[in-house]
Amino acid sequence: MRDRSSAMRPRPFDRPGRFFRGNIHTHSTNSDGHATPERVVEAYRRQGYDFIAVTDHFLSRYGYPITDTTQWRTSDFTTLLGAELHVPALANGELWHILAVGLPPDFAPPNPGESAADLAARAAEAGAFVGLAHPAWYGLTPDEARSIEAAHAVEVYNETCAMHNDRGESWYITDLLLSEGRRLTAFGADDAHLSESRPDAFGVWVMVRAEQLDPRVLVEALKAGAYYTSQGPLIHDIRLEDREIVVECSPARSIFVSGRHRRVAFVHGQRLTEWRCSIEQFLGSYCRVTVVDHSGKRAWTNPIWLEE
Ligand SMILES: [Zn+2]
Ligand SMILES: [Zn+2]
Repeated sequence: MRDRSSAMRPRPFDRPGRFFRGNIHTHSTNSDGHATPERVVEAYRRQGYDFIAVTDHFLSRYGYPITDTTQWRTSDFTTLLGAELHVPALANGELWHILAVGLPPDFAPPNPGESAADLAARAAEAGAFVGLAHPAWYGLTPDEARSIEAAHAVEVYNETCAMHNDRGESWYITDLLLSEGRRLTAFGADDAHLSESRPDAFGVWVMVRAEQLDPRVLVEALKAGAYYTSQGPLIHDIRLEDREIVVECSPARSIFVSGRHRRVAFVHGQRLTEWRCSIEQFLGSYCRVTVVDHSGKRAWTNPIWLEE
C-alpha cells in the first residue's frame, strides 16, 4: 500500500460528502413532455434517483413555464427548478437550446431581441447552472458555442437525442473548446420526454458530490464542477500521485485518459478496477477520464486541468 497522503484529487473526488444521483434535463406536460410533472418526479424517485430538474421549454406557446416541483421534495429526494431557454436563432435557423438549472421561479421571459449570450448571462446571474444543450443534435457550431461566455458546461451526452437522431454525444465540440483553454465542465442528461415511441428515461445521469441533498447546495456543486456523468459505471476515485493519474472504478473493459487534440493513454482488459498512467503528456492543459463497462456503458469525468 502506497502512502496516499500526498495525493491530490480533482473535483469532485476532493470534496466531502457523498454522491447524489440526478437528472438535470427533463420535460413534462408543461411543455412537450408526455407525463405530468408529478409523474415525472415519481418515475425518477422510484428509479432510485436522489433529485431531478424538470426543465420545460421556456417558450411563449407554453406560457414560459418554470415548472414548480417543490411540493414533491422530501427528506430523501429533492428537485431543482429550471428550464430550457430558447431564442432565435443559430446560423442554420434552429432556435437556441440552453439549459438553465437553479432558476428563480419568477425568471423573466426573453426580452425582445435578447441574444442567446445575453439570455444565458441573465440566467447565470440569477443563480443558474448554464449548459449548452445537445450541440450535436441540432448542428451548433464551435463559434456559436464559444459565444456563450456564461456557459458553465456542455451537455456531452443526451439520451433523447441518442434515441431521436443518433446524435446523443457531443464530446467533439467540447474537446475543441477545452483544447483552446475554455474551462467548461461536461454533463449528461436524459432530456426525457417520456413518450411511448422513444425510450429516453434513466439512460444517463450526473453524480453530484455534496454534503447535503439541498437544491441550493446541489446547484452550487454543479457550478463548481463537483460531479461526474454516467450511463452505469461508477468512478470511485481519481487522484494524482507520483506524477501519475490513478483511476478507481467499477469493473471496466476500457479506461481512457484523453487530453488536448490526440493526446491519450488507455487500457483494455477484463474487469479493470484500478489503473494508473503518467500525466506528463497532459501537463499545461487538461485531461479527462472515460470508463467503459462490459456492456459498453460509459462514465465520464469533468476535465482535469494540470499545471506545467
Ligand atoms: Zn433541446
Ligand atoms: Zn430538452
